[in-house]
Amino acid sequence: LFMFSHVEPYAGDPILGLMDKHKQDPRADKVNLGVGVYFDNDGKLPVLNCVQKAEAQIANPPKPRPYLPMDGLPGYRAACQNLLFGKDAQVLKDKRVATTATIGGSGALKVGADFIHAWFPQAKCYVSDPTWANHIGIFEGSGFAVGKYPYYDAATNGIKFDELIAFLNTLQAHDVVLLHPCCHNPTGVDLTQAQWDKVLEVVKAKNLLAFMDIAYQGFGEDMDADVYAIRKAVDMGLLFFVSNSFSKNLSLYGERVGGLSVVCKDEAQAKAVQGQLQFNIRRIYSSPPSHGGHVVDIVMNDEALFNEWVQEVYVMRDRIKDMRQKLRDSLEAKLPGRSFEYITKQNGMFSYTGLTPEQVARIIKDFGIYMVANGRISVAGLNASNIDYVANAMAEVLKD
Ligand code: PMP
Repeated sequence: LFMFSHVEPYAGDPILGLMDKHKQDPRADKVNLGVGVYFDNDGKLPVLNCVQKAEAQIANPPKPRPYLPMDGLPGYRAACQNLLFGKDAQVLKDKRVATTATIGGSGALKVGADFIHAWFPQAKCYVSDPTWANHIGIFEGSGFAVGKYPYYDAATNGIKFDELIAFLNTLQAHDVVLLHPCCHNPTGVDLTQAQWDKVLEVVKAKNLLAFMDIAYQGFGEDMDADVYAIRKAVDMGLLFFVSNSFSKNLSLYGERVGGLSVVCKDEAQAKAVQGQLQFNIRRIYSSPPSHGGHVVDIVMNDEALFNEWVQEVYVMRDRIKDMRQKLRDSLEAKLPGRSFEYITKQNGMFSYTGLTPEQVARIIKDFGIYMVANGRISVAGLNASNIDYVANAMAEVLKD
């Protein structure tokens, strides 16, 4: 009877909790700008054409569903590698990269964090201030002490770059530095290529372990520019981790499709790391999901479907950029003399609006516009039907 009486209630995840509150809100003009999910101009979650075609192949004729290998389908692993490092990259020809399919980008972070904690038990983990909250949760869950490095500068809507560099210089060898190669979550503020070069120089000089988490490839500039930091790190001879997610760029959120790659010194080292990743996966969930795995494998390894996919990602990217421009123009028209340039300078799904927690509480209560308490909005939740309503509401809470 008293077995579980000591179990404490869970306060709930702030972002997922916001989704529930939005769902329960009876107002017809309510808007969900909380969760990082791409909605189309009709406010719907798209099923990409390339995905529909791959699913038709999977369904016809129906196929048995054996377990997948612990590290996923070979074509899936190759797809992750080609996208991140470039199809003809020497590092892939040299077989220096260990790659496994994972349960979403979150699973990649977890498998990677467990691996690093096992092999570098002294290492601490540092995340950007601010970062996606689950970065902290996952690394703490794997046993890490998690600290923050200076990143976002609210005064300039830019980056505290000198402080960032100075901070990295104080870290110990093998400390983990979690980096966002593009479309920084939650701020949308990314490093320039020249800034990346400097950050990676410090990572190399101090022998830090970079962990690059990329969940929005294709949503920033384009498929290649968005992985500049990853390819530069390879060119510099760094050994490091990359977690990637197909949740957003294939609109396959619930299929849980992600990947973890580790750039190693040589093929023998990559084989050892691959084996240890398999060992970790076996002990956590044994093998990855089959359906999403096959969809990714088919789309990424068929030239026509691949090209169609890239174009579909760019349509999503461009719609978000268009919404940024409209939101900025509208706010500047309503609040003359104030600049909202930062909205169009930020990249990817998110914008840090600068709304205070009080202003966020007010916009939720008075207007039914749901956003994270830190003022982050998912720009992909905006569309032709709600942009004026949102701009009006934002201007209203920002005007005092
Ligand atoms: N990293 C970042 C920066 C993210 O924003 C997300 C998703 N919100 C993830 C990882 C996790 O991706 P997934 O949903 O595929 O687990």
